[in-house]
This record gives sequence, structure tokens and C-alpha cells, in this order.
Amino acid sequence: MNSGGIIALEDRHNSGVYSKQPLVLVRGEGARVWDAEGKEYIDCVGGHGVANVGHANPAVIQAVTEQVRRLMICPNGFYNDRRAQLLAELTRIAPSGLERAFLCNSGAEAVETALKFARLSTGRTKVVAAMRGFHGRTFGALSATWRRQYRQPFEPLLPGFTFVPYNRLERMQQAVDEETAAVILEVVQGEGGIIPGDGEYLRGVQALCRERGALFIVDEVQTGFGRTGRMFACQHYDLQPDLMCVAKAIAGGLPMGAVLIGSRVGNLPQKVHGTTFGGNPLACAAALATIGYIEAEKLPQRAAKLGARLMDGLKAIPSPRVREVRGLGLMVGVELKEPSAPHLAALAERGVLALSAGATVMRFLPPLVIGTEEVDRVVQQVAAVLEI
Ligand SMILES: *Cc1c(COP(=O)(O)O)cnc(C)c1O
Repeated sequence: MNSGGIIALEDRHNSGVYSKQPLVLVRGEGARVWDAEGKEYIDCVGGHGVANVGHANPAVIQAVTEQVRRLMICPNGFYNDRRAQLLAELTRIAPSGLERAFLCNSGAEAVETALKFARLSTGRTKVVAAMRGFHGRTFGALSATWRRQYRQPFEPLLPGFTFVPYNRLERMQQAVDEETAAVILEVVQGEGGIIPGDGEYLRGVQALCRERGALFIVDEVQTGFGRTGRMFACQHYDLQPDLMCVAKAIAGGLPMGAVLIGSRVGNLPQKVHGTTFGGNPLACAAALATIGYIEAEKLPQRAAKLGARLMDGLKAIPSPRVREVRGLGLMVGVELKEPSAPHLAALAERGVLALSAGATVMRFLPPLVIGTEEVDRVVQQVAAVLEI
């Protein structure tokens, strides 16, 4: 079937909730993907920040293939070798103080779980989140998500959620009180437009939470696993969150999420929460291979270096359409003074895939294995597209 046929078939039968580029991707390797007609692209969408170790990563392929043959199904009522190893690895690489983890299947589920644990642990119900923040689409996660377009069709959402401007500590001080169960923040706001958090702000929020008996939830779903130049973005600022949500890149492309749990979270009694697929041996094997590869190949350092190169290159583009270039590591945004969608389509024509973050930001989340020449080609093509 050619691209036209595949697009027609998907369009006829899918739910319709996604807006799509008219591109059929059928194969990937490293930082490249190919469409059904064999055209090659540099992939700066990276599965929205999933493909950190690259497409068709050999270590992930081997681990998954072996585990598929051995054992795919092991409910949480039993123990499993791969799960035990992954729990040990996750807590080893996490910011200090996170000694336990709950394994689940997506970013939204990780956020959902963290919110439930925060209520359970504090006996409080209110949550403070940030304007422009994004935490997922399930009811709890959506209640902490700012964008009206996502929220409004599904109201009423959970009660007790308030939003404050990001990076403004005095506004957070006014919002957190003795009824606040948790504050939830991203370290770099992704979906909201690639807005890096200020280190002093984030440390200030953490201190405020300690002082007022609230838990500090950090959402590292997009920033985690080397993306920003450290294994976790928290580690840039020595943050010690009480609950840290991860997902996206964790298992090299297989669906998985996790919540890491600190010592300020109280006892979590048996049977208060659970999920069938969470911590299944296949996802655990893939995650172990992914973490091993990220460390062996020093992908965080690579993201720091190539992210700086990408950002410097983009900043040097002399286009009056650009308002600002910002980011951390290989999480980079170009904010335009106009809608980004036509430019993203033009970029795809030129063999580079990137995504939007809000209406006016071009977002780049390439696999961290991207090469120097590929980064330079991305910059060249963005320059060509933004030329008047
Ligand atoms: C993508 C994302 C989520 C939601 O993850 P899903 O796996 O799509 O449910 C939550 N938080 C952040 C910061 C994200 O980028």
C-alpha cells in the first residue's frame, strides 16, 4: 500500500482526535526515519521525546527479543528478576533520596499515581500547578494541565487545583498553604513552549513545600533519561523531589512510566493502588537496556554538547521571524512571531521532522544519538525555511 492508501485507511477508522502531518513513517534507525516511499528524514520529533537511544537501538532490540522468548507476563502479585533489577537501577540513577518506585505504563499514569500518593500521604487534597504546564490527559493529570483547550471539553475536573505563573516564587508562596497536598512542576516546560525553569525558583519551591508540609512532585516525563544534558533535569539544580514522574524515553520506545518515591511520602498500604501491565518483564528488560545504553554511551553529555551546538546554530539564524531560541540540552524551542505549523510542514518537505509546542514554537527533541553533521543539517534547513 502506498502513502495515500495508508493515510486514507487510518483516517477512515481512527478516532479523529489527532492532527497529523500527511506522512507515513515505516522504518527508523538512529536519528533517521523513512516514509513509505523511501524518503529519508532527520527525526527531531523523536517520538515526542521517547527515542533518546535512537530508532532500532541494537541493545534494546537484543534485550526485548531475549525477554519475549523468556517471560512477558508476571503480575505484581509475584516477583520477577527483570523488575527487581530495574527498580534497583532506577533508584540508583535517580536524584538522591528516591529509594522506591511504582512502575506503570505512561506519563499520564505516572502523574495520576503521584497525585494519588500525595493525597494519601498528606491527608490533604489541594494541588498547585503552573500556568503553561502539561502533565497528561487522564482526569487527574488533566486537572494539573493548564491549557484551556485540553481541559474545558471535559469539565468538571478534580477540585482544588490552582495555577500560578511559572518561575515566579512569590506567586507560589501565595498559593501553597496548609491544605496543599502537592506542588507539581516540570523542570523545563515542554508542551508549554520549551520554557526552562530557573534553578533558584525550583529550589525555592522545594523549600516552600518542606516548610508547609506539601509534597514536591517533579514531572520529568519529557526531560528525563539524558534529554537535557543530565540523566534527570532535577540534577542540574540538585533538586530532591518527593515524587518524580518519568515515562517517554524510559524503555527505549516501549510504553512504560514510573513514579519514584522519596522518604517524605508516608506509608503506602497494600492494595491502595495498582495496574495490570505496570512493571511487566518485557518493559523492564527494555528499560534496563535503555538505561545501560544511555550510561555506556554517555548520552547526557552528548545531549549537553550537541544541544549547545543546535541552539547556537539556531540563534545565529538571522531571521526577523524568530522571537527567541531557548532550551536545555537537546530539548530546544524556537519561538516565532507567527504560527509555526507552516514552517514545520516546509521543514518536513526538506527532510527534517520537528514538532510544535503551542501555536508559535518549533520544538526539537531529536534522539540523543544524533550526529554533529545531522545537527548542522537541521540548522541549515531551519535557516532555509525561516528565510523571507
Ligand atoms: C508527554 C507528557 C506527559 C504525558 O505522558 P503520556 O505518556 O502521553 O501520558 C506528562 N508530562 C509531561 C511533561 C509530558 O511531556
